[in-house]
Amino acid sequence: MHLSERAFCGELAPADTGREVVVAGWVDAFRDHGGLMFVHLRDGSGIIQLVFSPEETPRHICERAAALRSEYCIAVRGEVRRRRPGTENPGIRTGTVEVMATELEVLSESEALPFTVSEKGMVAGAASTETGHVTEDLRLQYRYLDIRRPSMHDNLVLRHRIFQTVRRVLDSKGYVEVETPMLTASTPEGARDYLVPSRLHQQSFYALPQSPQLFKQLLMIGGMERYYQLARCFRDEDLRPNRQPEFTQLDIEASFIDEEYLYELVEELVVEMFAVGGISLTRPFPRITYAEAVDSTGSDRPDLRFGLRFVDVTDLFDETDYSIFRRIILRGGCIKGLNLKGQSDRLSKNVLQNEYAKEIAPSFGAKGMTWMRAENGALESNIVQFFNERELQGLRERFEVADGDVLIMIADPAYDVVTSALGRLRLHLADRLGLIPADSFCPVWVTDFPLFDATDEGSVTSSHHPFTAPDRTDFDPNNVEELLTLRSRAYDLVMNGEELGGGSIRISDREVQQKIFAALGLTDDDVRERFGFFLRAFDFGPPPHGGLALGMDRTVSMILQTPSIREVIAFPKNRSAACPLTGAPASVKREQLAELGLLDLGGREVPPDAAEREDRVDRISWLSRIGVAPEEHPAMEIVLDQAEELALLAAKEAGELEPMYSVVPVVNRTRPGTVGKRSESAETGDLLKNAPSLKGDYFKVAGILE
Ligand code: ASP
Repeated sequence: MHLSERAFCGELAPADTGREVVVAGWVDAFRDHGGLMFVHLRDGSGIIQLVFSPEETPRHICERAAALRSEYCIAVRGEVRRRRPGTENPGIRTGTVEVMATELEVLSESEALPFTVSEKGMVAGAASTETGHVTEDLRLQYRYLDIRRPSMHDNLVLRHRIFQTVRRVLDSKGYVEVETPMLTASTPEGARDYLVPSRLHQQSFYALPQSPQLFKQLLMIGGMERYYQLARCFRDEDLRPNRQPEFTQLDIEASFIDEEYLYELVEELVVEMFAVGGISLTRPFPRITYAEAVDSTGSDRPDLRFGLRFVDVTDLFDETDYSIFRRIILRGGCIKGLNLKGQSDRLSKNVLQNEYAKEIAPSFGAKGMTWMRAENGALESNIVQFFNERELQGLRERFEVADGDVLIMIADPAYDVVTSALGRLRLHLADRLGLIPADSFCPVWVTDFPLFDATDEGSVTSSHHPFTAPDRTDFDPNNVEELLTLRSRAYDLVMNGEELGGGSIRISDREVQQKIFAALGLTDDDVRERFGFFLRAFDFGPPPHGGLALGMDRTVSMILQTPSIREVIAFPKNRSAACPLTGAPASVKREQLAELGLLDLGGREVPPDAAEREDRVDRISWLSRIGVAPEEHPAMEIVLDQAEELALLAAKEAGELEPMYSVVPVVNRTRPGTVGKRSESAETGDLLKNAPSLKGDYFKVAGILE
């Protein structure tokens, strides 16, 4: 059968009726009706039903078909037929046709599968044939089988379409895709670096890029003006759900632009990307400042799919007799709350007091939680008697209370505790009460971030990264209090409570950049050593510039509405940052470490028994650069044992003699007068038959043997 004639399974249609086709792919499922066989054949384009009928298919082909098993790889020739009415399968795109087989070739067989690959029922209306729960690690271990599943396959295809959209839109706007190095120096994005030891420069390391930040800025100084890259980035962070040690970011940078330009560009891009998933977003995206976002939702990643905005009621209790509130207000604290409209049926006193006030709110960092339910025109709770009528009336007005509403409030001397605990309650309650509408997408730009965050040690760190432009430049880099009042020209794009990406207008003035480094506590030497090359570029006419990066795995996962980002990555790491397929990360041999100069880093030794724990044969094979096949191991073991015995014997004979060292450099010598003789095994090639590779008539071996 000529595979070059092959038609795609998923593309066969009634218009092909009567056509003879060759199709190839995997056996997705089969049904044997006592001689009449139906097979779902799956390829990259979809599924087609094959029929092996004793009346029309040659007998020996029917017999061969009866031996087919799931995931055998086969090629079939046959005629496209319309299915008989009543036997159509609306569950597959080609459900009105089938192929009556006349030839069958088994291209390769498959062992029994670790999990079911098939997802499509063979009979109209039947559920998917997928059964049972498969652990994610098993799916990742056999990812190639997992990718055969149509839903995983579709995820990767749609991811590709989204990437193509990005490239098309950016190309149309004059953006140039430039690759930046993977082996580079550290870029500060707030995570740990993955380091790569250099063999040629012993005890020196490359860092895998946390982002192409420095390079993209250098490209602006290099006059590229419009840059983008679908860049792989690496961040060694503590394990968190929906994070990957390596991820793909759409990295953008442009010169002679401002925030408005970037909002416009990115909104257009994001609208087009979401359209690939059939989701339409309305523009312009709303904007909210960081301060407003935290004040009204308790988060700098506000989920705007539902209301539940915070209401501040601190001033209502200025003169309260309720001692808890009074003390909090005296200490400069605040009181904020939410109105859960019409939820009193679902939030009983018991739930509010015993679950929320006692358990959930404290687990979110609050010291307590006040609740009230509106019934018969009045507010009732376990503490309502401590408030006067003016205070209660104030609450009713501020929260626009109606019967059936439930108020919850958090009071604390620390503003951050109030906003963060109430923010988490907001999300928890919205989820529990089903207040989040399905299939809704609410993008928002968060702007005006603080430039710096305070550290526990009384210093500051960049809240975005140190290249972000501040809102003013006349600050004193040593005045921490003043530094904490600075805002940045950074912006984040948030959707449904998740940060899809962020960026900033950059510092394009050397002096200002140096001031920021000083504010971060970097000494002149640190700066010179880490960023000297970068600052130097600012001596040569840097243009004003800015950009942003969008997390593509997260964005694609949101567009496709998958439960985790791992569903849209071909070969992701699992939740513990490991790869069940390849076994990475894995230990390496002592020799490999030695070659990289990593055995003695600052006096640290590899444990003395490390070498013993390794396989002797592997070790020698690695040292000599000659591969030893597993079946050769036992013979090699015997040879090694004999060599060891011999060595011991020789040592015994030599008594306590010190070993001899040669003082002249080692060179190859032949004794004068001797005639070179070709060994027979050299003639036959046996001598070096384990050499790693051949080049023409020569064996290529490691330097050690040359
Ligand atoms: N380099 C930044 C990041 O990876 C994005 C940017 O500022 O453009 O978060």
